[in-house]
Amino acid sequence: MRSVEEINDRILSGDAVVLTAEELKRMIRSGEEVRADEVDVVTTATCAVMSGTAAILVIPVSERGVFERAEMVWLNGVPALPGPCPNERLGVVDVVVYGTAGASREYGGGHLFRELVEGESVEVRVEAGGRVFEREVTLSDISFARMFTTRSAFRNYAAMVNPREGVVKTIFSVTGLRGPLVEATVSGSGEVNPLENDPALRVIGVGTRILLNGAVGYVVGEGTRSSVEHPNISAVADMKGMNPEFMGGFVTSAGPECITSIAVPIPVLDEQVLRGLMVLDENVKLPVRDIHTRVEIAESNYACVWQGAPLEVKFDARKCEGCTMEVCEAEMMCPTRAFSRGRINRRKCFNCLTCIHLCPEQDKIYSTIEVNGRTVPIVLRQSNRSRANMLATRLKKMIEAGEFLLTSPLRLLHR
Ligand code: SF4
Ligand code: SF4
Repeated sequence: MRSVEEINDRILSGDAVVLTAEELKRMIRSGEEVRADEVDVVTTATCAVMSGTAAILVIPVSERGVFERAEMVWLNGVPALPGPCPNERLGVVDVVVYGTAGASREYGGGHLFRELVEGESVEVRVEAGGRVFEREVTLSDISFARMFTTRSAFRNYAAMVNPREGVVKTIFSVTGLRGPLVEATVSGSGEVNPLENDPALRVIGVGTRILLNGAVGYVVGEGTRSSVEHPNISAVADMKGMNPEFMGGFVTSAGPECITSIAVPIPVLDEQVLRGLMVLDENVKLPVRDIHTRVEIAESNYACVWQGAPLEVKFDARKCEGCTMEVCEAEMMCPTRAFSRGRINRRKCFNCLTCIHLCPEQDKIYSTIEVNGRTVPIVLRQSNRSRANMLATRLKKMIEAGEFLLTSPLRLLHR
């Protein structure tokens, strides 16, 4: 048994052995023996569409004394909630912006957060006392920019299907979820998810230092709807240290959603913690839910999603050269606008499968799940396991370089 302090001493002396969850699982699958006294830290991560993401921003609007208090605020057209502080006559406005708030069906809070972090200027519109104030700001003008998640990194999530005739517009689908049982969409990073690797909730808790979209942040505590059986976390970090590649907007059939990424280091304190880290996709339950009721109607596991399927989407762009389609649906529906006639902007791509699914020329290489005797293809992944692995690798490198030390939680989750 070791303490977090002892592990930090090994990190500072350059002796710590750090593995990513991906590396550890590879060792387990190849039959290598892994001992608790040989590994100090395992870095875990998730990158997914996470509705429970918001930002708290302090926006400069005018000189002091020009208006009393802001009543309505928009950033690039995305509605923001002024307050809770009224900032009376200070010329600034505190706002809360939801990652799911929409300026349109195709642009929302998640897009705005990424553009701010990329250093782009955004248009601010404020209504106050019958007057309208407009200006452009960048993240450097914003004195306080914190991202907060109300629930994130659910220990496992779910697959969604439509058992009835017709199409359901939902945040769990890009094109609308078709039925009856002809396609499924999935969320959840499976065996690399942080909470999946701490099943006894022994190491992750209030104050655990993490990476949120690449910035150093902290676990605040349990997120909304968290339970011992199905935990999730809320977390906070300064947007000024974030990396746009781990965040952004994601357009669904029910409006814009928000991509968020979280990496958590798991200190290998003893054999029990190591046993928790041995979890594989095959052991992670994937409930299959009816999109109409959200009731579970079947059960699978995450091996169906992530084992055997390429984590990065491979698109054969040669098929586009002679293509005569007037409208390229793959381009039109790409939820991150990363796709353009076969060319994929890898910095924006979420590896969601939509372009493969919608292009009539591509070989369909779907993973499938069994639902009530039907083999149902997974046509949309709302978690990006490839990007989660990248964030876990980034955290590993920071720990190895002595730039990131672990914290002991002030309180464990649900204790
Ligand atoms: S992605 Fe498919 S539909 Fe679009 S241009 Fe290429 S081949 Fe044509
Ligand atoms: S996989 Fe295709 S549709 Fe999905 S984000 Fe990447 S380019 Fe866009």
